[in-house]
Amino acid sequence: MRFANLTGISGADPQLCALINDDTAIVVSQLFSGAPSTLNDLIAGGDDLLARIRTAADTAPRVPLAGLGFAAAVPAPPAVLAVGLNYAAHSSELGLKTDTAPTVFTLWPNSLTGHQQTTTWPRRLSESVDYEAELGVVIGRPAHNVSAAEALDYVWGYTVVNDITARDIQFAEAQWSRCKSFDGFTPNGPVIVTRDEIADPQDLHIWTVVDGHTVQDASTDQMVRSVATLIAHLSQSVTLLPGTLISTGSPGGAGYSRDPQIFLRDRSTVTVGIDGIGELTTHCRITD
Ligand code: ZN
Repeated sequence: MRFANLTGISGADPQLCALINDDTAIVVSQLFSGAPSTLNDLIAGGDDLLARIRTAADTAPRVPLAGLGFAAAVPAPPAVLAVGLNYAAHSSELGLKTDTAPTVFTLWPNSLTGHQQTTTWPRRLSESVDYEAELGVVIGRPAHNVSAAEALDYVWGYTVVNDITARDIQFAEAQWSRCKSFDGFTPNGPVIVTRDEIADPQDLHIWTVVDGHTVQDASTDQMVRSVATLIAHLSQSVTLLPGTLISTGSPGGAGYSRDPQIFLRDRSTVTVGIDGIGELTTHCRITD
């Protein structure tokens, strides 16, 4: 199934919805008494709740998608973990090493936003803001010390993430969280797709289009470390809580490394997409 947090429906806003097709959705909380109203509650209900929702959705009243907006697909995760340098082409283009263990950092929750939203930043803070298309993985049940072989069993679903980055700050500071966590720098969505719809997370076309030009065009089969390997690695030292969002790194083609360089400009539109999940568009505004 495909879930989104939609705005513009009467009542509380945004509302957790299941998308039935390209044109219609159902409001999950209205499906039955006690039905979840948040993604975290939906995830906490596990496979049984998902099955109940799937059944109830068949006969539920439909809401037209036209005119509705998208909030973050993953709006309130207990943690947002991100992996740097997980595609060789991207680490070499940035002149950074992949080393023996993945580069892990956190993204702050203020940075989460949704499809077709506008992200604004002041020119005085950065003039080299870049895009990064990434596969987002949402954990479904507590994962502690799991093996790579069983790691995908702990995934609840997948989404699309744009790991927007102020490159000048990234290279000026010894951590990567601030440069990637400006308000609105972590668009995700439009939807989260349950794991049963993604047969192999290492076989997905992933791309970025900036102002009509394709600037990233790759496959998740180029990851240095697979989704399963990343979950296994992270779970050695932490319990990955249900709802945790893991952004799994970006392929080559970042604007910083292009000749000439391409950065997100005032009024740029950037779309990152992954086959089988969707396309996530962000509008950029730069203030003085
Ligand atoms: Zn990234």
